[in-house]
Amino acid sequence: MPNIFASSGSDLDTLLEQVRPEELDQIQIKLHMQDIAYLQQAYPTLIAVNCIACDSPHYHIAFEKLRYTFNRCDGCDSLFISPRLSREALAYFFPTGHLNEVSCPGIL
Ligand SMILES: [Zn+2]
Repeated sequence: MPNIFASSGSDLDTLLEQVRPEELDQIQIKLHMQDIAYLQQAYPTLIAVNCIACDSPHYHIAFEKLRYTFNRCDGCDSLFISPRLSREALAYFFPTGHLNEVSCPGIL
């Protein structure tokens, strides 16, 4: 088995393509965006939360991705999403999300 950590340049690109083909990345992004669109329509209200690790209300925006804001806790350095989906939306998403059909087949 090739050592991925000792590879570089085009060898690394080839290994990464074998492990995670670009085609699967595109399918994953498409399904993720479908799930987000549905959840935003079905559960339009997002809820602001404190740090999920230490419950601190002190944090700052680290970056935004796929329409969500990722925050960095000033207390413990954890990265978390806020505002985020409600508990009801999360409960809906995990057993029925399209992305789970690809990433967790047969598990949920
Ligand atoms: Zn924290």
